[in-house]
Amino acid sequence: MALDRLLKGFADFRLGYYREHLDLFEKLATEGQSPKILIIGCADARVDPGILTQTRPGDIFTVRNIAAMVPPALVPPDQAQHGTSAAIEFAVRGLDVEHVVILGHALCGGIAALVDGSESVYAGYDYVSTWTAVARTVRDVAVHDLAGRPREEIVRAVEQAAVVNSVANLMTFPWLAERVAAGKLVLHAWWFNLTEGQLYAFNSDSATFEPVKGIEVTPTVQQGTKLSSIKPERLLLALANKKPAF
Ligand SMILES: [Zn+2]
Repeated sequence: MALDRLLKGFADFRLGYYREHLDLFEKLATEGQSPKILIIGCADARVDPGILTQTRPGDIFTVRNIAAMVPPALVPPDQAQHGTSAAIEFAVRGLDVEHVVILGHALCGGIAALVDGSESVYAGYDYVSTWTAVARTVRDVAVHDLAGRPREEIVRAVEQAAVVNSVANLMTFPWLAERVAAGKLVLHAWWFNLTEGQLYAFNSDSATFEPVKGIEVTPTVQQGTKLSSIKPERLLLALANKKPAF
């Protein structure tokens, strides 16, 4: 039944969208892709970056994984298989993207599993907890700084702080940091609240996520941004000093 819907969708795509955009598909087939934006989003079925941003084929290079995380670079790299790092490398070094967006979201199951730790139903899985440990330090700081707050508030804080953590981790890739320093690449920390349909961006001055209104947004990291301003601990401290959100 579920697959019927998918195949019906493809049939509709062929007769509709594909035909309406024949020129675009022909151009993409003959000239190749040249997206200017890399989006790293969560694999969660509710937060498709292409649908959220209403982009066209060829516009965004997309990586989706559990909880939209970026692990730190390995310098020098080892011989293990690093899917997310490989996709980032291809987009930055191969495609010369001008923006990298980390797109976290509300009600993220991967972050909830990280917060619940050994209490999580996913704790015994082979790969999930090892992967989400990318933000384990962030989780530990949040649990400490927000002690006594409701679980929902701690989960939200970790969702947002993990996005900032991933932006900081992006800067550990030498060829990526070089492009930021040269003014060729900017980085964005975004968080989508699907219960209200609102997008938020991290403001490194106030160290909080602020609603995105209109089409203007200040990058989280650009040429000249101090690395000290993209520490997730700053966001967690700001949240701890605010009134409880729940
Ligand atoms: Zn998620």
